[in-house]
Amino acid sequence: MMELVVATRNEGKLREIRRLLEGTRLEARGLDAFPELAEIEEDGDTFEANARKKALTVARHTGLLTLADDSGLSVEALAGQPGVRSARYAGEGASDADNNRKLVEALAVVSPERRQGAFHCAMALCWPEGKCLVFEGRLEGLLLDEPRGEGGFGYDPLFLVREYGKTLAELPLEVKNRISHRGQALRCALEYLQKLP
Ligand code: IMP
Repeated sequence: MMELVVATRNEGKLREIRRLLEGTRLEARGLDAFPELAEIEEDGDTFEANARKKALTVARHTGLLTLADDSGLSVEALAGQPGVRSARYAGEGASDADNNRKLVEALAVVSPERRQGAFHCAMALCWPEGKCLVFEGRLEGLLLDEPRGEGGFGYDPLFLVREYGKTLAELPLEVKNRISHRGQALRCALEYLQKLP
């Protein structure tokens, strides 16, 4: 088995990533194994910059291969918001419910035919010596006025996947992982890792 640190304190992301790593030769260690590690400020302008910063900081600190995801929702009619600020859209320390409420309010003036949005994910894989690779994924959908479903996390209850006629919060984790921005990016990272000697 190869040890891999997954640099996130977001339970929803960790659950999805752990599921995607099942059956591989990678053993995931969460950040709870390193309580001394301070919060890493996500001050980059892009998902890629933030993912790189998180993975590299943790790889250097732990001396272990590290994977970090930076992701978020972009809505064209809102000039790309919430974007890289998705986790803090309604302010520092905002809950998923606060962020969803703010999104519904912002969308109230947007006509139904302009409600497209996309989730983006940048998945950085960094080695303690400083080498980094970044893999990306994207999922398009439509934003609803009211949350639907109990699964997932973040903006999932507002995000309708047209092909299924369901929100990400209504789809089983297996299906979400098959189609999601995070699933796509992580599968690319895994393909690379499986080829390593
Ligand atoms: P990060 O920790 O800065 O990458 O913030 C990610 C934020 O983007 C989360 O807190 C969610 O609000 C949102 N997000 C990212 N991926 C997903 C997803 O798969 N479903 C719903 N919301 C997501």
